[in-house]
Amino acid sequence: MTPASTANARYAARDLAHVWHPCTQMKDHEGQVPMIPIRSGQGVWLEDFDGRRYLDAVSSWWVNLFGHANPRINAAVRAQLERLEHVILAGFTHEAVIDLSEELVAVAPGGLTRCFYADNGSAAVEVAVKMSFHYWRNRGRTDKRRFVTLANSYHGETLGALAVGNVELYKSVYRPLLMDVITVPSPDCFLCEPGESWADHSRRLFASLEQALARHAREVAAVIVEPLVQCAGGMRMYDPVYLEMLRAACDRHEVHLIADEIAVGFGRTGTMFACEQAGIRPDMLCLSKGLTGGYLPLSVVMTTEPIYAAFYDEYTRLNAFLHSHSYTGNALACAAARATLGIFREDRVIERNRALAAHLAARVRELADHPHIADVRQCGMIAAVELARDKASRTPYPWQERRGLAVYRHGLERGALLRPIGDVIYFMPPYVITPGEIDFMVEVAREGIDRATSA
Ligand SMILES: *Cc1c(COP(=O)(O)O)cnc(C)c1O
Repeated sequence: MTPASTANARYAARDLAHVWHPCTQMKDHEGQVPMIPIRSGQGVWLEDFDGRRYLDAVSSWWVNLFGHANPRINAAVRAQLERLEHVILAGFTHEAVIDLSEELVAVAPGGLTRCFYADNGSAAVEVAVKMSFHYWRNRGRTDKRRFVTLANSYHGETLGALAVGNVELYKSVYRPLLMDVITVPSPDCFLCEPGESWADHSRRLFASLEQALARHAREVAAVIVEPLVQCAGGMRMYDPVYLEMLRAACDRHEVHLIADEIAVGFGRTGTMFACEQAGIRPDMLCLSKGLTGGYLPLSVVMTTEPIYAAFYDEYTRLNAFLHSHSYTGNALACAAARATLGIFREDRVIERNRALAAHLAARVRELADHPHIADVRQCGMIAAVELARDKASRTPYPWQERRGLAVYRHGLERGALLRPIGDVIYFMPPYVITPGEIDFMVEVAREGIDRATSA
């Protein structure tokens, strides 16, 4: 079969004539990397136009929770579609957004009673950053305008979100356009001293954050973190004790705590929200990705009554939070989100995921003695392995060799969508994956890693 004769190839050629893809050097598609046109999805499987199937091991960029074409979410979106697709959310409201807000307040950490909607993760981070700054301004603290962020953090790629993140690959080019932030070392446990526990490491690293707050609190509006897992930063993980200490320090120094749970929320780390593992409540909780089960773009910033109250005033005092997006609180997206939350309740997903996460952990642990795997780590339904040229010294491969890309290509040949972050191979599957499919996914990765590291 010559490539040009297949349906895949025809779609790929049409695509490449006009579609400019995200996070992609388009020239890669000249030969290095095939463009895969997907015709349909079912559960954890995607099917292309030539009938080849791919296990979606990355949940289509971490958004899909209960599989593609999930019957319950399909039905909910269909029902909503027959009644109302969208309505302006200023001055008007609708049933799906009201129901969803009540349900989110019920499941989020206690005290997060106000829901401000946007339509993607970066926009939620922009909202949280503006809201925090504006809160302090409304309270007369105009000096509080800076943000503290962790090294290797990721909060999205619009300019404000990019500024409070720290992944060089995405940030460095745009630095001249970005506001200045205070960056402290990450509690990332890949960087543990030999013999040091995750908790000890995270506790030790907190000293830098404490120091930054002691020095700058007067001019700091908020600290923003990804609780427990820095996902885009290579699935780097840390101990909940860090969040506990952070919450206490933010209170002590009168600084907001923004928890960006856009990737880790909705069960990814083993609890509904990662903050639960530290027993803390952030001042602002950013949610998106899994919020709609991976169906439609929607995000929300949940916050507290005191923060809401700082904006609640006579119109003429001009203290309102005027931020808006055209598709804020879209009804179809809200219906998908309600169906998603319904599945969590009805199927006791958090409980059921415990067994799945244990199975994933056991399978991934078997990779630990691979001669080119320097680290194996797992947190709930996220597992990752880190390739290295030299295992003992953890010397990475030169990035130009793109070893991870070879694993990706092997996955495509074998029927798994594994999309590494550099040389970090990770697994973040939909929760409807079976133990047998987990075995397949990890086995394909192991083969790919063997191939990628054999020369
Ligand atoms: C994906 C992500 C974002 C950005 O969300 P988008 O919808 O892609 O803009 C922000 N923060 C974290 C932690 C993310 O993983």
